[in-house]
Amino acid sequence: MSRRKQAPTVGFVSLGCPKATVDAEQILTRLRAEGYAISASYDGADLVVVNTCGFIDAAVEESLEAIGEALAENGRVIVTGCLGAKGDIVHATYPKVLAVTGPHALAEVMAAVHAHLPPLHDPFVDLVPPQGIKLTPEHYAYLKISEGCNHRCSFCIIPALRGDLVSRPIGEIVREAEKLVEAGVKELLIVSQDTSAYGVDLKYRTGFIGGRPVRTRLYDLARELGQLGVWVRLHYVYPYPNVDDLLPLMAEGKILPYLDVPFQHASPRILKLMKRPGDVDKVLDRVTAWRRAVPDLTIRSTFITGFPGETEQDFDALLQFLDAAELDRVGAFAYSPVEGAAANELTGALPEALREERRLRLMQHQEDISTRRLEQRIGKTMDVLVDDIDEEGAIARSAGDAPEIDGIVYVTDGHALEVGQFARVTVTDCDVHDLFAALQP
Ligand code: SF4
Repeated sequence: MSRRKQAPTVGFVSLGCPKATVDAEQILTRLRAEGYAISASYDGADLVVVNTCGFIDAAVEESLEAIGEALAENGRVIVTGCLGAKGDIVHATYPKVLAVTGPHALAEVMAAVHAHLPPLHDPFVDLVPPQGIKLTPEHYAYLKISEGCNHRCSFCIIPALRGDLVSRPIGEIVREAEKLVEAGVKELLIVSQDTSAYGVDLKYRTGFIGGRPVRTRLYDLARELGQLGVWVRLHYVYPYPNVDDLLPLMAEGKILPYLDVPFQHASPRILKLMKRPGDVDKVLDRVTAWRRAVPDLTIRSTFITGFPGETEQDFDALLQFLDAAELDRVGAFAYSPVEGAAANELTGALPEALREERRLRLMQHQEDISTRRLEQRIGKTMDVLVDDIDEEGAIARSAGDAPEIDGIVYVTDGHALEVGQFARVTVTDCDVHDLFAALQP
């Protein structure tokens, strides 16, 4: 029998957001480093790790279902992730699970795996690529820069699940980024709960990159990552004043002219109930100043409709904000109460149908704005990164399109391009979400 066949085998199921994906990647990396084999099916595995999400009730249900399925199919299950931090719901539902940990708990997960499935004595460390195991395609990767959050938005339980902000050392992040780039990654997607707050918990202390002193600050991190020669895209940026410092880096082409800023609402009254900054005029001024500094900036945001107490007037204020801000990309969620969130105590809960109806109205309202913004790109020449090739050409993304959440650029004559390749194209047309383009001769 070959040595490989003797390797203890772990099945892995991962649910949840990009932050959970990063946790999963770190666990998979460590498992492989210690000589465990990873199985794509339940029956080939000696035990199964389920990485769960606990953000909204639907995610809790999905996670519980995944645990139930793994127990039925395999029988030996370790649970990690956000659901694991929600009291003993997992143990209460499935007393037979071997162990339960919260999110970002690499050491605890590994301890549970060791207890129930000891590693081989001679781990195949050399089988692990230096950048670790990634769940994303080879040409882009999520890079988590911090964990937890110091805000207390009333609809959110992430601080209760993941704790206050803990920033990763700047040298460690840049080293990880360098390894990813060496392995062929062309786009780094910076994620955290609150990217603009990076370094606050460490009082922006001086860290080291290859012996060189660098402040633990978002600007310094973005500048360092901007020197790696790949796309750097910032997600979950809270609109603090320090975001303004990043605009010159975008204007110089060091990081992508893209900001994912979840505004959540635009009525000062609702923002106050949400426990979020409520000065909408200041936000609009900031958006205008950002656009002045970087005219091709893409701004994406998300909003919640039907928050408890939201009146027609509050909702109108939100639509008016969309008209004034002319955001490029907008996502909307109908408010859904999350167990344990402070917002559940608020009076004036709206019926589910009304929350959803407002979500649809918001999306319809934004559709014209987004289309107008896309139309402004027709005739422009831009770089795109190829995600896929099919019989109709190349499916790519521009600086304005994050993977999975934004639009696509169809390069209609891009059949000969390769996945992970940059190409220069001219935009020929658009629809509501996507662009059509031809290769630049
Ligand atoms: S900033 Fe984001 S993670 Fe932090 S409490 Fe608010 S919604 Fe939750």
